Amino acid sequence: MSRRVIVAANWKMNGDSALVDSMVSGLAGMESSNVEVIICPCFPYLSALEQKIQTANLNEVIYIGSQTVSRFPGGAHTGEVSASMLKDLGIKYVIVGHSERRSLYNETSEQVANKVNAVLDAGLSPILCIGETGEERENGKTESVLLSQIQPVIDEVGIENFSDVVISYEPVWAIGTGNPASSAMAQETHYFIRQLIAKQSEQVAANISLLYGGGVNEANCEELFAQPDIDGGLVGGASLKAEQFKFICSAAIGK
Ligand code: PEP
Repeated sequence: MSRRVIVAANWKMNGDSALVDSMVSGLAGMESSNVEVIICPCFPYLSALEQKIQTANLNEVIYIGSQTVSRFPGGAHTGEVSASMLKDLGIKYVIVGHSERRSLYNETSEQVANKVNAVLDAGLSPILCIGETGEERENGKTESVLLSQIQPVIDEVGIENFSDVVISYEPVWAIGTGNPASSAMAQETHYFIRQLIAKQSEQVAANISLLYGGGVNEANCEELFAQPDIDGGLVGGASLKAEQFKFICSAAIGK
């Protein structure tokens, strides 16, 4: 089994040059480990982050991700950024299908599948976000919602390429609350996701990294990361302070 252990920071529409500086200097003591640390700032800060990481000699410790990407390869799409442009900048990961993009910008699971395909085509790793709303969970729809978010992607990219995708399970009702799903509930849902994939390929299911996101912080990360089907986390609010984020990254070391 060779799953990537990942802790990724999703800064959302937060941060500035000062945060880029303080984050890189705050993580400066980190050594290369089993954990891939990823920082996903807004587009304007990608290059500055790349330069700071190089200067601090942290390019084997910290990787860069973007928060979204165009589903189109190029051309007349004003305001969009293509996967090949991200690759050109040295970016390795791309968050795709975050619940805020699905709900606020009407991204459908089919469009998300196109984006995952574009990211894989460019040789980058997509972090595919999936998750149910509170209402969907209360109505017993969690499993059907997760299936409806995953299957279009498998259909688009093919199950044989799906182990290059990183999945982040993010229950929408936990995002931004500081109160994650309980570790038992998160583990149960991650197990369900892995089994769902195993029905199509046991090998892909064994190798795919499943992150948990939604309310991860210093107080709960150790218990969440200790679960057998949780391979790290996607961290929003708690990734905006270097000390906190460093603690959360360290909690995944040795997993
Ligand atoms: C997110 O929105 O991706 C996220 C994980 O947010 P938070 O950690 O703030 O809940």
